[in-house]
Amino acid sequence: MTMHRDVWVLLEAEDKKIKSSSVALIDEGRRLAVQLGGGLTAVFLGQTVEGMDHLVGTHGASNLYFIHDETLHQYAPELYERLLTQLLLGKKPYLVMAAATSLGSDLMPRVAAKLKAPLVSNCVEIRVGEDMKFIKPVQNGRLHATVVCKAPGTKMATVDPDVLTIAKEENQPKIAEVTEMRPDTEGDRLSIRVTGFLKADHRTIDISEAEIIVAIGRGVGSEENFKIIQEFADRIGAAIGGTRPAVDAGILPFERQIGQTGKAVSPKLIIMCGISGAMEFTKGIENARTKVAINMDRQSRVFKSVDLGIVDDLNRVIPQIIEHIDAMADEEKGQ
Ligand SMILES: Cc1cc2nc3c(=O)[nH]c(=O)nc-3n(C[C@H](O)[C@H](O)[C@H](O)COP(=O)(O)OP(=O)(O)OC[C@H]3O[C@@H](n4cnc5c(N)ncnc54)[C@H](O)[C@@H]3O)c2cc1C
Repeated sequence: MTMHRDVWVLLEAEDKKIKSSSVALIDEGRRLAVQLGGGLTAVFLGQTVEGMDHLVGTHGASNLYFIHDETLHQYAPELYERLLTQLLLGKKPYLVMAAATSLGSDLMPRVAAKLKAPLVSNCVEIRVGEDMKFIKPVQNGRLHATVVCKAPGTKMATVDPDVLTIAKEENQPKIAEVTEMRPDTEGDRLSIRVTGFLKADHRTIDISEAEIIVAIGRGVGSEENFKIIQEFADRIGAAIGGTRPAVDAGILPFERQIGQTGKAVSPKLIIMCGISGAMEFTKGIENARTKVAINMDRQSRVFKSVDLGIVDDLNRVIPQIIEHIDAMADEEKGQ
């Protein structure tokens, strides 16, 4: 049986819009499809999204399978699994990708098990060659493993949404050919029902999963000062992590230590308070996107690799920021 070298991407929507991670996934899919010499197809299960055919086509997918039914408006694991498996069994693409979101991370293993296809989760890079190579972080992000997929047939991958970026080049407007499917779901007896999503609690979330981190170092000084930092973190929904001295001083538990002997973190924003930027610490923040440091020593090494540096006493700066946030919140309430 011949295997098409086609790439498929699974799209997701939020607030009636295709998620930006899905748009970036189409761009990544196009890059891989070109290298594989195949076509690119997108698949979406859910509620109608206006202009989806245009968006998908412009980003490089020539086909869009749109599976819709009222029961699909909310993620239904068994139903999504059945419908996607049926479609993929018929079409036999070479590679199927989804973003490693909560939906992608739940659905793809289910489908892979049904298809008996290899799945590599949370990839940060996919390389086309004689065999497909999937690069993914292991050991809490300290190492990268290369998984070589030699198996014939469909290969599946979820991709870390944080590494997906929307291509900068201007694409020519195009419209994808849409195949609408209205499945018969009446006979489906569902044992799992997703009733909603709870926002992670920033105080208890694992720091390696946190999007915003306030990191504290020896410069915080005392548990008393730490209370102000906690107030600040609560205001901005940040998890608290820190350096080894903060852990050794008993201010933070070991699971909140960042660095060589702690955890590697990859937040969108990290605010470092009273941290000198020792190599053993900065190893753990290499994948943080925006780095801010507050340190009263202008010469501190921490300022060498930050996006914003504030040279001041954190016990002066943090209360001022809290005041500012509260004033803004009051203003908003008053409007
Ligand atoms: C084998 C090994 C493994 C290690 N693993 C880790 C690890 O995983 N993680 C880790 O963090 N460390 C680790 N370390 C320790 C590391 O080498 C550093 O000692 C540590 O990171 C320094 O922590 P710090 O920045 O909090 O403290 P310091 O280096 O003492 O820095 C404190 C900073 O706070 C500033 N400051 C003081 N008061 C204020 C104030 N009021 N306002 C603003 N700024 C202020 C100072 O100017 C200073 O720059 C390891 C060391 C070894 C040898």
